[in-house]
Amino acid sequence: MSNKVHLGHTARKRFGQNFLTDENVINRIVGAISPDNDHVMVEIGPGLAALTEPVATSIDKLIVVELDKDLVERLQEHPVLKDKLEIHQGDALKFDFNQLVREDKQMKVFGNLPYNISTPLMFHLFEFAEHIENMHFMLQKEVVLRLSAAPGTKAYGRLTVMAQYHCQVMPVLEVPPGCFTPPPKVDSAVVRLVPYKNKPWPCKDVELLRNLTTTAFNMRRKTLRNNLKQMLSDEDFAQLGIDPTLRPEQIRVDQYVAMANHVFDKK
Ligand code: SAM
Repeated sequence: MSNKVHLGHTARKRFGQNFLTDENVINRIVGAISPDNDHVMVEIGPGLAALTEPVATSIDKLIVVELDKDLVERLQEHPVLKDKLEIHQGDALKFDFNQLVREDKQMKVFGNLPYNISTPLMFHLFEFAEHIENMHFMLQKEVVLRLSAAPGTKAYGRLTVMAQYHCQVMPVLEVPPGCFTPPPKVDSAVVRLVPYKNKPWPCKDVELLRNLTTTAFNMRRKTLRNNLKQMLSDEDFAQLGIDPTLRPEQIRVDQYVAMANHVFDKK
């Protein structure tokens, strides 16, 4: 059993609870987040406050979104933090981050994310990208490699294209399992995501880009022509200057955007 007790709390596997315990790693992450009062500071999954405490004590207010009611209660009763925190109990996947936008301030969002929901959570957050200055997330190392992958590599996929469409992606540091209680079964890494204020390749319909990348990467070993035949003809590929015999991982982000815009214009 990996349900270790830490600070009197039994880690809940279903909530992806692996608590950070390494002071050095905590300090480095807080340094990367660079908390300030000029932004709306938001933490997802504060847990036992490993990151929450150093961040909240250095600013006026920290907003946290936590699913586990027991952990919410602990935070509400925390002698130092209770006056510093605005606590939202609930599922970050369903949370409307627009409600946190205040006085035109941009958000800085961070968290040691529950790994079982990290990909859908990032897709959810991309919807609020225009209100976000930056995001710092602890993720499975493999997910950080996917976020930052280059075309032509095995890690390059739908998540890469959508993340790099919305954000600049910068790996920050790698974190071994021993830095958590209980230790996760996989290596972890921290990534910084900085949403573009002006997108290098603007897309006319982001939902369409999402659908197109999902369809394109459905069968990685097949050609673009094969995967996208319902959406684009050989003539379309010729107009776009994209070779339809390439595989989905060989196509750059700007080319995916060009394909989505082409489909949009044909409608
Ligand atoms: N931030 C703490 C740390 O670094 O030690 C805890 C990190 S732990 C990996 C993930 C945290 O996210 C837990 O506190 C868990 O209860 C919370 N959590 C899990 N699923 C969630 C969800 N859907 N929405 C919000 N919080 C969630």
